[in-house]
Amino acid sequence: MRILVQKFGGTSLSTDEARQLVIGHIKRERQRQFGLVVVVSAMGRKGDPYATDTLLSLIAHHGNSLPAKERDMLQGCGEIISASVLCSLLRAAGITAIALTGGGAGIITDNQFGRARILEIRTEGIHKALQEGHVVIVTGFQGVTEAGEFTTLGRGGSDTSATALGAALQAERVDIYTDVNGILTADPRIVKDARPLTIISYSEIGNMARQGAKVIHPRAVEIAQQARIPLRVRSTFSEDEGTLVTDTVHALKSSFVRDRHVTGVAHVSGVTQITVQAQDGHTDVQLQVFQAMAKHHISVDFINVNPGGAVYTVFDHDADKAVNVLQEIGYAPRAVSGCAKISVIGGGMNGVPGIMARIVEALTEKGVPILQSADSNTTIWVLVRESYMVTALQALHAKFALHE
Ligand code: ADP
Ligand code: MG
Repeated sequence: MRILVQKFGGTSLSTDEARQLVIGHIKRERQRQFGLVVVVSAMGRKGDPYATDTLLSLIAHHGNSLPAKERDMLQGCGEIISASVLCSLLRAAGITAIALTGGGAGIITDNQFGRARILEIRTEGIHKALQEGHVVIVTGFQGVTEAGEFTTLGRGGSDTSATALGAALQAERVDIYTDVNGILTADPRIVKDARPLTIISYSEIGNMARQGAKVIHPRAVEIAQQARIPLRVRSTFSEDEGTLVTDTVHALKSSFVRDRHVTGVAHVSGVTQITVQAQDGHTDVQLQVFQAMAKHHISVDFINVNPGGAVYTVFDHDADKAVNVLQEIGYAPRAVSGCAKISVIGGGMNGVPGIMARIVEALTEKGVPILQSADSNTTIWVLVRESYMVTALQALHAKFALHE
């Protein structure tokens, strides 16, 4: 049987009208003779009645008293509501369907509550239901431990549920339905003329996702890439086919992709730049600094080391702790909070001269100071103050003509 996984995000399920469109996408693919596994998120966004953040707001004033295990029981409820409501709607439309929890679908995880990792998916139950002709609805974001404890997979976890199911079921494709027409060249909330991409490689979207593009979870991309399952990111609210994520050489060799040096830009805000200088008598400054960060579980990024010291970033919420830790071991760090890391990403920039020059040009023309930069084969990163973030993203998007 050809299997297709369809994943519907929060906004795709939040209203009656949207849910009717979801039914339409399911019907259309069913007519194409696919066995369908439909993964659902909680309905809507913060403030909507059954959204994950709304459920969590029920305990927001209890001072973190709920253990992670019970917290998972609360935050996984929204998906159960979505799955059962969608099951009812499908049956009302004359389509036979069943709804399963993550555990019911055989998704076994470790016991890191709130950010569990999928260990294995036991697919017999889903296969049987598909053979019987059911559309199989699965709650995203959830799993169960070997001992039967309820777990959740962390933010964006429904994307991971979908691609992990796609891999385990050897699906023909995984379709991620959301509220934008695919993967765009930039976050459309910031760059108004951001444009949907027809095609993108796993590594490009993986980079964009890791560097802040919230359209798909990076872990979900990794799983699809390992299993070589194509993904499509598309809108519930249109019939456009959206963006195909693939590594198929002939698809990526089309002239349009071949000539593309920069594919998109992404950003992460809320970071602090920390500069540490070697003090007299401290010869192994880098070692000391990064060992201290690791010991205190402070995650570090954008690391530049030089003989005289190190420059790196931490999240703003870790900044005070990082500074204290450094002072305790005898350094006098300088911290610049409220920065944003901007990434310019393109599988086609490798070996192309002048990309960095154009980035510097774009930012200088708009008077945006660059605090730090780094580059790899496929990405160039610059750190700027958050107050310049929007200007910088728009300038880079325009410089590389990404709207065209
Ligand atoms: P869902 O609830 O469907 O999972 P998300 O909010 O997680 O939806 O992801 C979709 C959102 O991601 C879009 O509405 C858009 O604002 C945001 N986004 C950020 N960067 C990008 C990008 N490069 N391409 C598309 N969407 C992006
Ligand atoms: Mg999402």
